[in-house]
Amino acid sequence: MRLAILADVHANREALTAVFAEIDRRGADAVLCLGDVVGYGPDPEACVDLVAERCGTTVLGNHDAAVATGQDLGYLPLDGQTAALKHTEWVGDDRIAWLKGLPLVVTVHGVTLAHAGPLEPERWPRLTSFRTVQAQFDAFDTDICFVGHSHSPAVASSSLGVTRVRPGHRYLINVGAVGQPRDGDPRAAFGIFDTEAVSYELVRVHYDLARTQARIAERGLPEGLGSRLARGE
Ligand code: ZN
Repeated sequence: MRLAILADVHANREALTAVFAEIDRRGADAVLCLGDVVGYGPDPEACVDLVAERCGTTVLGNHDAAVATGQDLGYLPLDGQTAALKHTEWVGDDRIAWLKGLPLVVTVHGVTLAHAGPLEPERWPRLTSFRTVQAQFDAFDTDICFVGHSHSPAVASSSLGVTRVRPGHRYLINVGAVGQPRDGDPRAAFGIFDTEAVSYELVRVHYDLARTQARIAERGLPEGLGSRLARGE
């Protein structure tokens, strides 16, 4: 089974449609979303509708929770708070209800999905140290757990020295971000995982970044949310 896994769409419709086109070109048996469908970007309505239609499973991200509940905005950077308040106004009751219904952690097709991490997922752990990454492995039962949140692709293994996805080893894989990559590469990112071959591939896709920047200006969002997209940060 080929799973396409995407994260951190952040209301970037141009990046999301480019990613879906690439998924269609390559073929996938299921498309899974690791959350933060909304927040930051200019098109939360379209992105919620597209993800709800195309992704078989979606977990809740911290921006989704902030937009849906209007709470915990203080956790977000200032431009993120500004965008979240606008998104709450824009998306309407049905999409708010959809966001509120998203689970924090799901096991599906033999893999675990969490936005930030499966250990205390509601606290949105930042997996920036070896210790915090290793602690996550006790919080899921499958061999592979996919996460987003940092917007930077990464693969962590439960055993040091393993660099390829191999049966018998366990991995925590960050699939990078669709809508706001922060690893210096402005292209949209997502992952393809083949459950039979036990192989994982990080895919990068060009999209119409200038169009997203124009939409950010059109909808009155902070200018910095557009300029950072070109820098991949
Ligand atoms: Zn995010």
